[in-house]
Amino acid sequence: MRHEVIVIGAGMVGTSVAWHLQKNNAEVLLIDKKLPGSETSYGNAGLIQREAIHTHPFPRQLTEMIRVLPNQGTDIRYRIPAILRYHQALLQYWKYSTPASVKKIEGEWQTLIEHCTSEHQTMISASGADELITRDGWLQLHRSEDTFKEAVALAIDARNQGVEHNVLTVAELKVMEPSANFDEFVGAIHWLNSWQVSNPSLLVKAYAKNFQEMGGIIKETGVQEIVQEDGGWKVITDTDTFYSDKLVIAAGPWSNDLIKPLGYDLPLFPMRGYHQHFKVNEKNTIHHSMFDMDKGFVMGPMQQGIRITTGAEMTTMNAPKNFGQLKTVLKLARKILPLEDAVESEAWAGSRPCMPDMKPVIGSANKHEKLWFAFGHSHQGFTLGPMTGRLVEEMIHEKPLLVNIEPFSADRFSK
Ligand SMILES: Cc1cc2nc3c(=O)[nH]c(=O)nc-3n(C[C@H](O)[C@H](O)[C@H](O)COP(=O)(O)OP(=O)(O)OC[C@H]3O[C@@H](n4cnc5c(N)ncnc54)[C@H](O)[C@@H]3O)c2cc1C
Repeated sequence: MRHEVIVIGAGMVGTSVAWHLQKNNAEVLLIDKKLPGSETSYGNAGLIQREAIHTHPFPRQLTEMIRVLPNQGTDIRYRIPAILRYHQALLQYWKYSTPASVKKIEGEWQTLIEHCTSEHQTMISASGADELITRDGWLQLHRSEDTFKEAVALAIDARNQGVEHNVLTVAELKVMEPSANFDEFVGAIHWLNSWQVSNPSLLVKAYAKNFQEMGGIIKETGVQEIVQEDGGWKVITDTDTFYSDKLVIAAGPWSNDLIKPLGYDLPLFPMRGYHQHFKVNEKNTIHHSMFDMDKGFVMGPMQQGIRITTGAEMTTMNAPKNFGQLKTVLKLARKILPLEDAVESEAWAGSRPCMPDMKPVIGSANKHEKLWFAFGHSHQGFTLGPMTGRLVEEMIHEKPLLVNIEPFSADRFSK
């Protein structure tokens, strides 16, 4: 059987691409080596981030670089083999992180973020996944008056872009989250129109189920090779060979493995994060996700318990787990909330798929017909999956595009 479109990767991005195509009368096969939402889209902090209008530039100020260098931070750590392996991408990342460049990039990025909640809502309604979503925002906690002041100024600016917030004193925080201890904090920003998901993997699974209800097919098998053949595509997997007219690569941080043999070498690099769930007494819990801005970790209420999520570790995809960052973060988290036993015996680790210019790749491939890329969403792929799905469908079906797609083109690094 020849499929109209094959999508490889059933994370938030690939599942959303497949959903939009199937919804618009394409006949789609979605392939993943695991069940939908089992990798990075499983392990994230579960925030649909309408407030995320700023990107994450490489530290360029000397003070910031000196702070990161000893490799003991809770927000960012690195391993030398990864620096060596990804040095070219990191150099580009550094170059793209000048204030002027970041300003331009953020202007482009914001055209995507603007639509994140409305695009999720369409899929949430169709999938009946409303019970997984809380629309009461999340809390950005500050330990230092200086960073708090800067953040408040940015939040006020963000109102021009439809991002809503309240500034909270410690006393007000205490009213919102009576079980938490805010002694080490000076205040918080409550981002009002961002959403919290109580089980990120289940949201992807709900979208995938709805895709199947519309007639979409899912195969759980690993893709070994993709070959252009007969004006279309042959996808060789661990178990079968599949054929399609069109192909979309949405394999998150693994995307380069699939497209390198076709002659593409995009500067995609991984930024690892860890999480672990902890039991809490029901009377002693929190109701909002909280991001400790000065220490760079998130603690949020999930179905499985309180999920403690670390910042970034620059390491290679298959490097063994290193729990140092998580251990340090846990000490800080326990001061905020009395966490009980860990739910899992070992913490989860997964990699954000990052691009040096902090923008995802969403577009057609420049060396092959009928091939599209949708990956590299770094810190906000869970937020931007549905928006990406919509854009890829519009491109494939040659419809007018919701936003200008040029800044996200796959060939921007070869120009
Ligand atoms: C700790 C942490 C916290 C985060 N918090 C947030 C947050 O709060 N909000 C937010 O928006 N983003 C967050 N992110 C980022 C977000 O999770 C990612 O950007 C997003 O999940 C990427 O989705 P994806 O579909 O591109 O990749 P993935 O979810 O990784 O999906 C890729 C899929 O491709 C499949 N695949 C790969 N290779 C093959 C192959 N050869 N054959 C078959 N299948 C294959 C994999 O099995 C996988 O299922 C966080 C990330 C981390 C690590």
